[in-house]
Amino acid sequence: MTSSKSDLIGAIRAVLSGLIDPDSQKPLGNSGRIADISVREDGRATVILHTQAPPTDADTALRVQAEAVVDAVPGVASAQILMTAHSNAPMNAPMNATPNAPAPRAGERRLQKGDNIAAQDAKPPQGAAQARSGIELPGVGAVVAVASAKGGVGKSTIAVNLAVACAQLGLKTGLLDIDVYGPSAPTMLGTQSVKPEADASKKLRPVEAHGLKTMSIGYLADQDAPMVWRGPIVMSAITQMLSDVAWAPLDILFIDTPPGTGDAQLTLAQRAPLSGAIIVSTPQEVALADVRRGVAMFRKTAVPVLGVIENMAYFEDPASGARTHIFGEGGARRTAEALEAPFLGEIPLETVLREGGDVGAPAATTHPGCAKLFQALAEKILAQLAAPQGKPAPEIAFT
Ligand code: ADP
Repeated sequence: MTSSKSDLIGAIRAVLSGLIDPDSQKPLGNSGRIADISVREDGRATVILHTQAPPTDADTALRVQAEAVVDAVPGVASAQILMTAHSNAPMNAPMNATPNAPAPRAGERRLQKGDNIAAQDAKPPQGAAQARSGIELPGVGAVVAVASAKGGVGKSTIAVNLAVACAQLGLKTGLLDIDVYGPSAPTMLGTQSVKPEADASKKLRPVEAHGLKTMSIGYLADQDAPMVWRGPIVMSAITQMLSDVAWAPLDILFIDTPPGTGDAQLTLAQRAPLSGAIIVSTPQEVALADVRRGVAMFRKTAVPVLGVIENMAYFEDPASGARTHIFGEGGARRTAEALEAPFLGEIPLETVLREGGDVGAPAATTHPGCAKLFQALAEKILAQLAAPQGKPAPEIAFT
């Protein structure tokens, strides 16, 4: 850390210390509530404060006050205050403590292009899920987690292009990136330099990009200090990024989750109003055990598994059209079948997918072939959301 950065953190700590903790009526500096202060290169400051679960009105007032004083520190471009509750039992509940809540059921009728899910009379994907979770997202239709049990399988690439494809199909679409171990949405969307701002009601306005409303932990966190984004702080950040962001109105919100089946995913599955989950996997056998774990976790938490996507399924030689199955063939499809989870489709290894991610222009926005591929995938997912659970998705062939 540069000395100017540590000076800035010291200055932030000093102004925060002068505030009065509403609980103990002591200066905040002596209250033990300041969990972390970080500052990004561009001057964006993030402060994490311990709080009650759920936060009280006094906590909210403290947060507003803290935001104002940190914002005023010379050198701070903007301030973001996150509240974390360490003693929130449901957040840390073990998997076997999950209540036997009924699986959220999807709508009676199929979703169609241009559908405003939020405006439908019946909102079963949300109704049941929101009742279960405790976090409500009024005005948001379906909430779909994009998960993988391992990093590097292309989960974020799929999430971004899938969201873009949904927007292209006419749905109001959002993308929330909570991959705390490597939030890649800002890079993939080309929004690294954009900073989310608060609206009049103190909710963060999502960053608009490629027809999507987006929010990423990468917009808020100091990328130099990933260690802080662990455990309860992760849980708190996830909760806030769902409830303190002005998402509505949205037809569908995709959540790019951290890889694995740890606390973060479990919390998301238990607390976020998920309509369903999609699991991304590569074809090789070593990844398949992970798919099984992912499917099992969502099922245990009563989140419908909308299906499995096989990424990097094959490489097609542009000259001859010959396909090479670099990582094996059809493994994710077989696993999906064995687990009785729908198989949603294959995404080939495509240079344009990687390049698009690197330069912040998703391939679905620049390559009509990719757009078609992801739109077909999106339609299958929408069909799964609208179909009674357990019914297999219609087969759509990618060309
Ligand atoms: P994850 O979110 O699972 O960690 P990413 O989406 O970040 O994975 O992808 C990891 C890397 O693989 C990125 O460089 C991405 O551009 C690349 N990638 C992902 N899917 C494909 C694909 N189908 N074809 C080519 N490159 C891909």
